[in-house]
Amino acid sequence: MFKGIFMIEILLLEDEPADAYLVRMALRESKITANLHHVVDGREGLNFLQQIGTYANSPRPDLILLDLNMPRMNGYEFLIAVKENPALDGIPIIVLTTSEAESDVSRAYKLGASSYISKPVDMSKFVDTVRQLGEYWFTLVRLPLGHNL
Ligand SMILES: [Mg+2]
Repeated sequence: MFKGIFMIEILLLEDEPADAYLVRMALRESKITANLHHVVDGREGLNFLQQIGTYANSPRPDLILLDLNMPRMNGYEFLIAVKENPALDGIPIIVLTTSEAESDVSRAYKLGASSYISKPVDMSKFVDTVRQLGEYWFTLVRLPLGHNL
């Protein structure tokens, strides 16, 4: 459901700066007006969601984009922590990873991921993938209402 004048908030957990940059560029190229918040590991992601420390004023994200392989707290640990928390477990989480292993795909879904997307290696395909993702999640499907509505 498109949120009209309301800004979409996206939290991206990604330890690879080049990939975070591509996500930002792709969103900018799409018609989606979203605020992209970037953190580099699961622990920072949880701090963001729980508004801890420097994230005291962070908005509740409408959608989370999650890399699996990250230092300190990886994507699985983050998924478990979010889905165990009744205040956070309604936020859709999309895994966006280089891993194409079937075991990673099934594990991510079992832990509550809403989608699993393998990052294309080719840059233009990557941009296109993120654009499609944005169009699907923000114009086609209906998201739970965030605190800002
Ligand atoms: Mg990574």
